[in-house]
Amino acid sequence: MARAREGSAFTPQQIAEYEAYRRRRPQMLRDIATKMQCWNICERSACRRGKTCLGDHASACISAVIRSVSEEERAIFQLALQLRIDGLDGKAAWAEASRRIARQVAAMAGLGLPAG
Ligand SMILES: [Zn+2]
Repeated sequence: MARAREGSAFTPQQIAEYEAYRRRRPQMLRDIATKMQCWNICERSACRRGKTCLGDHASACISAVIRSVSEEERAIFQLALQLRIDGLDGKAAWAEASRRIARQVAAMAGLGLPAG
């Protein structure tokens, strides 16, 4: 296996892939923030006006949106993502995740436990 330089644990290909990812990451975060409609809560008027994430603050906007939703909504989102990874389409994943989490919440309420 070729090494980028003496003593490096990474190959030139691994380093090139990491650098490519680092270059793509800001736009990926802006795309995710825009899909999550983070512009609704963004402090920057340009984002709200354009209904899109602009600039280098997408990560902060995504975190703010995630903090603003309930524990139950976060659980649905997390499970829906897993179901998407497992192969369901977006609508089916959301519906299935909503159904499963609602069942869990009802079960917890039946036990006298707070849903979160
Ligand atoms: Zn913004």
